[in-house]
Amino acid sequence: MCVLNRRRFIVFLQFLLLAAKQASGQFNYDQQGRDWAGTCATGRSQSPIRLADNTAIRRPIPRIRFTNYNRALQSPLIMTNNGHTANIVLPPTNNGQRASIQGGLLPGTFEAQSVHFHWGSANSRGSEHLINGQRYDVEMHIVHKNVRYATVAEASLRPDGLAVLGVMLQAVPTLISTHFGLNRILDRLPQVIRDQSSTMIAGQLTMNDLLGRIPTGRFYSYNGSLTTPDCAESVTWTVFSDSVKLPRPQIAKFWDLPDERSLPLINNYRHPQEINGRPIFQRTLI
Ligand SMILES: [Zn+2]
Repeated sequence: MCVLNRRRFIVFLQFLLLAAKQASGQFNYDQQGRDWAGTCATGRSQSPIRLADNTAIRRPIPRIRFTNYNRALQSPLIMTNNGHTANIVLPPTNNGQRASIQGGLLPGTFEAQSVHFHWGSANSRGSEHLINGQRYDVEMHIVHKNVRYATVAEASLRPDGLAVLGVMLQAVPTLISTHFGLNRILDRLPQVIRDQSSTMIAGQLTMNDLLGRIPTGRFYSYNGSLTTPDCAESVTWTVFSDSVKLPRPQIAKFWDLPDERSLPLINNYRHPQEINGRPIFQRTLI
């Protein structure tokens, strides 16, 4: 092997190693994802993107149909700081079935698997999608898996594998929140201020509680990817146009979490990706 080829080979190995490390969960937001490898760097249908009324295609899309979203989730409901976000693994509801969604532009029935958040800092906002140029304080992702596939890992290999609902949370200068479900989650954030620590969210909680009574008829939808490595292009995105308003002190609890390096876990959002001619659809009827 000549010197040049050998050097190229080593660079190639380093690239593979970096991609493997990131896919196995070792990544950070120091450059808002600009240094992520693999599909994150080469994909053409990546997320998040800029959503805007003047570029979206308005269509009479069916509304999203929610099943078991009004039923209490089984206990225990556990939230973990996984070093990148606060993640809640969703159990089935009290009738033994999972909360699920259909309709919209979803290619099938998708069961709710987990909920996590992306946020900013004391002086920055941290939603991943931008709506009409605006970044919101927090973006909540409810990850659903197509019932056709057995696991999230398997589903993430398929273009119709996953459906994520994006909900914007907005900090407002009030002290009282009527969003009791979200409050119960945010109130537990101080219990996960160590990397890999977990806490239990007590009491009955429904998926509707998480949606915070936003009008679910108004949303954007497009085909994209996971927004963390390996950035698999397996997600039908539904991002609601309306935001949930929460007291700023509640939102501020996110900013105290540490990442896996014990550095502040702040600004854990990926920078907006190229649209590359993808159609972005919009539903505007409440
Ligand atoms: Zn996310």
